[in-house]
Amino acid sequence: MTDTGPRNTRQRRAVESALRRTDDFVSAQDLHGKLREIGDSVGLATVYRTLGLMAESGAVDMIRAEDGEARYRLCESEDHHHHLVCRVCGRTVEVEEPLAEKWASDMAAAHGFTDVSHTLEIFGTCLTCAESR
Ligand SMILES: [Zn+2]
Ligand SMILES: [Zn+2]
Ligand SMILES: [Zn+2]
Repeated sequence: MTDTGPRNTRQRRAVESALRRTDDFVSAQDLHGKLREIGDSVGLATVYRTLGLMAESGAVDMIRAEDGEARYRLCESEDHHHHLVCRVCGRTVEVEEPLAEKWASDMAAAHGFTDVSHTLEIFGTCLTCAESR
């Protein structure tokens, strides 16, 4: 069985448009729930697999939250970037940091590593959430 049939394309489109309707990082479970709400029957296993493939190809950003669960988001920026994520409300800020890029590649090179990649997410409490406490 291949992954390129029309059925798969339809499911990928459904997953993509559900992602487009949300600004927050969502888990496969969350997205599966959203698809069900609008009456789109995409199996949970397919949602997992589709999100995994999209993350691998760079079509979506993936973060692994502190609870270990992967969460996904269609980001505005297609260039490499990082995220500040509020643990309370899930608000996300996309950030770039040239110093982090330089550190990562210098440090990898110092250990003889080539063809390196990295992900870096910073979790915290956003200003709005901190003020409403
Ligand atoms: Zn992003
Ligand atoms: Zn917040
Ligand atoms: Zn980076």
